[in-house]
Amino acid sequence: MQGRCLCGDVVYEADGQPSTVTVCHCRFCQRSTGGAYLVDALFKRERFRVLTGEPAIYDHRSEGSGKQVHIHFCNRCGTKLWLSFERYPALVGVYAGTLDDPNGFDRGPAKTHYIFVDQAADWTVLPAGARVFPGDLAGADGARVTPLCLTEARITGTGP
Ligand SMILES: [Zn+2]
Ligand SMILES: [Zn+2]
Repeated sequence: MQGRCLCGDVVYEADGQPSTVTVCHCRFCQRSTGGAYLVDALFKRERFRVLTGEPAIYDHRSEGSGKQVHIHFCNRCGTKLWLSFERYPALVGVYAGTLDDPNGFDRGPAKTHYIFVDQAADWTVLPAGARVFPGDLAGADGARVTPLCLTEARITGTGP
């Protein structure tokens, strides 16, 4: 799969399907995308490469983990293309909206992890079948969190 920034200076490629897809509702992702959430297609680093251009990097210390998160963005048009993580050095998290085919991977609820939903903006729709995590996929100790699987769609911030 290929992706690129708005102006086309930076083009990247990833082999195969993402190993994990997260839909992240945390405040970092809300602020960094300027949207309601980030759809993050996570690829193993060895399956990801830059084809043209050289993005700039913004380093941000995560309030949650205290670790560095690196945003790779285009110097010319400002598009954010992917994340790399001090906490998960083997992974690259692609801003899925930059893929040439945003539907080139399975983004159905069974393949997707809805994370940091405790921080989701009001009126965000979580689909039926979504595996919902209040925070990250794993706790600070690295232990995997057991998600809640929604039996019906939920709209955040409107229920009891
Ligand atoms: Zn660009
Ligand atoms: Zn996030």
